[in-house]
Amino acid sequence: MDKIRMSTPVVEMDGDEMTRVIWSMIKDILIKPFVDLKTEYYDLGLVSREASGDKVTHEAAMAVKRLGVGVKCATITPNAQRMTEYNLTQMWKSPNGTIRAILDGTVFRTPIMVKGVVPYIPTWEQPITIARHAYGDIYKDVEAYVSKGEKASLVITGKSSERVLEIFDFAKTGGVVMGMHNTDASIKSFARSCFNYALDRKQDLWFAAKDTISKTYDHRFKDIFAEIFAKEYSDKFQDAGIQYFYTLIDDAVARVVRSKGGMIWACKNYDGDVMSDMVATAFGSLAMMTSVLVSPEGNYEYEAAHGTVTRHYYKYREGIPTSTNPVATIFAWSGALRKRGQLDNNAELAAFGDRLEKATIDTIEAGEMTGDLAAIWKGDVKAVTLNTEDFLKAVAKRLA
Ligand code: NAP
Ligand code: MG
Repeated sequence: MDKIRMSTPVVEMDGDEMTRVIWSMIKDILIKPFVDLKTEYYDLGLVSREASGDKVTHEAAMAVKRLGVGVKCATITPNAQRMTEYNLTQMWKSPNGTIRAILDGTVFRTPIMVKGVVPYIPTWEQPITIARHAYGDIYKDVEAYVSKGEKASLVITGKSSERVLEIFDFAKTGGVVMGMHNTDASIKSFARSCFNYALDRKQDLWFAAKDTISKTYDHRFKDIFAEIFAKEYSDKFQDAGIQYFYTLIDDAVARVVRSKGGMIWACKNYDGDVMSDMVATAFGSLAMMTSVLVSPEGNYEYEAAHGTVTRHYYKYREGIPTSTNPVATIFAWSGALRKRGQLDNNAELAAFGDRLEKATIDTIEAGEMTGDLAAIWKGDVKAVTLNTEDFLKAVAKRLA
C-alpha cells in the first residue's frame, strides 16, 4: 500500500510520563503505517526542558508560528515535588503557558462524543466547545499578603500623571490583594479568533462575563466583542445562519445546562479553565476532550486536554500494562494532520484525519475500549476492556 505523502512537516512536541509512552505507540501503530510522516521534532519532556534551560519550548512555539501546525503531547508543569523527582535547577513554567503567550491564541476545547458514553445532562445532543481566552487575568497577576495596619492602593503612572485608587484599608485585620490586567490587543484577537472559529464550524457563539459587577474590566471585554462583531462579522454570521450573543456568566451557566449543545461558549481565562473541566466531565470523561490553540495569525496547535496521567505511568514503570485512554491524543494527531492537509491542499492527508477519527469512534461503539470508558459504558453491545496498546491495534485494524 502506498503511504500518504506530506509536503510540509507538522511541529511535533513530545511530552512526559504515560502520554509520552502513548505518543510513540500512536505514531507506530496508527500513523506511520499509513502516512509518510514528516515532523519537526521538539522534545518538551521535562528532562529535555531542564537540559536546554527551557529553550526547547520557545523554539517549538516559534516553529508553530513558522510552519502553521503543531501537535503537542501532555507535559509536566513542575511543582515542588517534581523539583526533587527530576533534580531540576528551576521550577520551569508551564509549557502550555509559554506556548500560549508566544502564539497569543485562544484555546478551543471540544468533547468527543460516542454512542454509549452518555452525557450527565440528558438534553446535550451536540458537543459544547469552550473557547478559552489564553492571556492575562489571574494567570499573570501580582498578589500580596497585606498585614493589619497596612493600606493597599492601585497606582497608575503616566508620563506626567499619577492616579491612585484605594483598594482597601486593612486597619483592623490583615488580608490579601491582587492586581491583574488584560490588553485591548489580546481581547481583540480573542474576539476575532472566536468569531472566525464560529464561522468555520457554523455554530452559534456565546460570550459571557460579569460586567454588572466588573463595570470597567469585564465591560471592556463585552464592548470589544460587540464593536468587532458589528463592524466585521454581523453580515457574515447572518449569511452563515448563526448567532452571536452576550450574556452574564451566571445566566450562561444556567442556559448551557438547559441547552441541546452544539454552540461555542467563549470564556475569560479563568472561567474557561473551570468550565472546560466541568463540560468535559459532564460529557462523560476528561480523557475524551480535545484542545486546539488557534492564533490570530491562523496557526494551530493541537493537544489532548488531560495531563500526563501520572498514576498510570507509575504502574506502567512497574511493568503493569495500563488501560489509559489514548483517544484525545489520537484526535490531537488527526486534527493536526487534517489541518496540514487543508493548508497544503493535500486532500488525502485531510481525509486520513477524518478516517482516523471515524475508526477510533467505530472501535469504541463496537464495544472495544479502555477501562475509563468501560466503567461508564451504557451502549447496546457489551464493553470489552482493552489495554492501551490493544485498543490502538483494534483501531488500526479498522483503519486498514
Ligand atoms: P491528569 O494527568 O489529567 O490525570 C488525572 C486523572 O484523570 C488520572 O489519574 C486518571 O484517573 C484520569 N485520566 C486523565 N486522563 C486519562 C486518560 N487519558 N485515560 C484514563 N484516565 C485518565 O491530571 P493530573 O494527575 O492532575 O496531572 C498529571 C500531570 O499532568 C501533572 O504533572 C500536570 O502538571 C500535568 N498536566 C499537563 C497538562 C498539559 O500538558 N496540557 C494538562 C493538565 C495537567 P485515574 O487515576 O482515576 O484512572
Ligand atoms: Mg484546568
